[in-house]
Amino acid sequence: MDGRNKSLRWKQFFACEAAADPLSEKAHTALVGSLYRRRAALGIGAVTCALASAAVAFISDIVLLYALTSLLSVIAVFRILNASRAAEGPEDVSPVKLELTYRLGAFAFSLVLGLIAASAVALEIDPMAQVLIISNAIGYGIGICAHNAARPTIAFGQLTLVCSPIVIAALFEGSVAAAFLALTIALLFPAMYSIVSSIFRALRDSLHAADRSAALAAEMEVIAMTDPVTGLANRPGLNRRLPEVLEQAEGLYQIALFWLDLDRFKEVNDLKGHQIGDAVLTTIGQRLSKLVEGRGTVARFAGDEFVIAAAVESRPGASLLASQILGEVRRAMRVEGERIEMDASVGIALTPDDGTTADELMRHADLALFEAKAVGRSQVRFFDRAMTADLNQRREIEAELRLALTREELTVHYQPIVDLATGRIRCFEALARWTHPKLGEIRPDVFIPIAEDCGAIVSLGNWLTGEAARAAASWPSDVRVAVNLSPLQIRAPGSALGILRAIREAGLPPERLELEVTENLFLEDSPHIALFIEELSRAGVRFALDDFGAGYSSLGYISQWPFSKIKVDRSFVSGARAGRKSDAIIYAVAQMGRTLGIEIVAEGIETRKQVRLVRAAGCTLGQGYHFGRAVPSEIAAQLLADERTAGASRQARLRAG
Ligand code: C2E
Ligand code: CA
Ligand code: CA
Repeated sequence: MDGRNKSLRWKQFFACEAAADPLSEKAHTALVGSLYRRRAALGIGAVTCALASAAVAFISDIVLLYALTSLLSVIAVFRILNASRAAEGPEDVSPVKLELTYRLGAFAFSLVLGLIAASAVALEIDPMAQVLIISNAIGYGIGICAHNAARPTIAFGQLTLVCSPIVIAALFEGSVAAAFLALTIALLFPAMYSIVSSIFRALRDSLHAADRSAALAAEMEVIAMTDPVTGLANRPGLNRRLPEVLEQAEGLYQIALFWLDLDRFKEVNDLKGHQIGDAVLTTIGQRLSKLVEGRGTVARFAGDEFVIAAAVESRPGASLLASQILGEVRRAMRVEGERIEMDASVGIALTPDDGTTADELMRHADLALFEAKAVGRSQVRFFDRAMTADLNQRREIEAELRLALTREELTVHYQPIVDLATGRIRCFEALARWTHPKLGEIRPDVFIPIAEDCGAIVSLGNWLTGEAARAAASWPSDVRVAVNLSPLQIRAPGSALGILRAIREAGLPPERLELEVTENLFLEDSPHIALFIEELSRAGVRFALDDFGAGYSSLGYISQWPFSKIKVDRSFVSGARAGRKSDAIIYAVAQMGRTLGIEIVAEGIETRKQVRLVRAAGCTLGQGYHFGRAVPSEIAAQLLADERTAGASRQARLRAG
């Protein structure tokens, strides 16, 4: 080992005691604490040394030795008391003070013990008594080195103070034996240095390792709590932060939890690529963080959901912030040269009315978001207690719905669609009916949206298409069957093939199947939907645009897709919107149908007057209670059979008004 290295090791050896301690303050405190930890060892050491000194004083009967023994005992008592105090209230005493008193006591004790042993040698007392006190002093010196290995200056200070007087006295004594005694004691120093330094290094390394793994664990925790895309907190991150936020706010201000779901984000991701999708999320995350800076925190949950917890003064305050949040989301952004506009739905829960715990607030904001989305896009909803009841009902229906198919509780009813000119049935619309053994009749308006949400609509729809196709196969060949199709069913893999297989197995020509779709199918510009419609149209299946006028009513869809029928929503015929204006709309739609060669069906006809009205407007087909409600397949077949007799046919014409 070269000199520089050696001095470096010495420096490192004592470094832990210097101000620029490479070990942390925490480690320093831990080491100081350990000085006092083995109180029993400290006590035994002090008592044996005091006893040995007292024995030596008594045997030699020398005043100096009595005096030194008394001094040693006083120091021992002082040290034991000090150790007890440190053990009882270690937090009250500063580590620096603890270390200083320990050091003073230890050094004084060692020096006095060394002086007693040296005096025994110098005064040439009884040889056995000399052996007793020298072995006692050296034993103490070695033992204390091991005990204080974590504090090398204390360890070596004590060893030096206890041994040096003996070495000096032995050298002065002059005999060969005494000279060898001095030599062997002196050799203790390098030996103890090696032992102490290896203990000390092991201790230091383990402290370093503990520090490193603690730092690593802290780093991992930060990663686990952060969303890698936006750098915002993720769900676990918010779960960790929210209770603190709520605690700080308690009694001072309200906390509003906003749960945001971006509308049609999936489309951006699918059509423009994940890179742009990620950039959109990051931009929105940054905007929201800036908006609530200093009064709230923003987190991104899986996919396209953001959750914001912010301090507000009141419910109107939360409302205002919600509109500011939506404003930030809606502000157009430019990503890689593309202009992108986003929108979102928001659910809000507010302390203390909607919950006081993080868990409650999250559940309620989520529920409010669910309701907001159920109403339509870009809606804001505050939580309200009725939502919980609705949710419970939905959950029950959802669970029961999965079983309904296997328990054969579902049936299909058929509602006639008649020719307004002849009164003859041209088509039957297949409508799902569910009679639950306990809950009774459940309306499709209730269970179809739930089936759509939970995905059960796919198997329900497949089953219903098969049933309807089988029923229709037994009807006269000029009567069609219409089946309602949910967007989710269309998106399911192999949907087109499934429908073609169902009609082939039932023996129904494709031209006799009509699929009713609503405009919201086209809100997502998915290539899958285009393929589905193209594939089935090519096979001969017909398409009807259902509930026209109830939604966006874009004429673009009509020119773009091969519809053979448009069904004017019943709200224009018999519903709340019926009236002079709606008559004009029906008229306009019917004229357009005539020009484009598309049949126009008026839905919801309940009276003879309405029949005349829609016929005058130019509608070619009609559907509604006036012509008949949805009936089981046997009755539908019976209606058709009756119609084929001349008398019934005349009746049908009469019915048509
Ligand atoms: P929709 O497709 O518009 O079906 C017509 C609805 O209007 C039926 O209600 C029918 O009973 C009702 N209706 C017919 N004539 C009149 C009338 O004169 N006055 C009034 N007030 N209502 C009339 P229903 O059977 O309760 O079905 C409600 C909705 O549930 C349907 O509306 C359809 O969107 C959905 N639905 C029903 N069955 C299925 C199905 O098998 N699959 C899918 N995807 N949706 C279905
Ligand atoms: Ca329909
Ligand atoms: Ca309809």
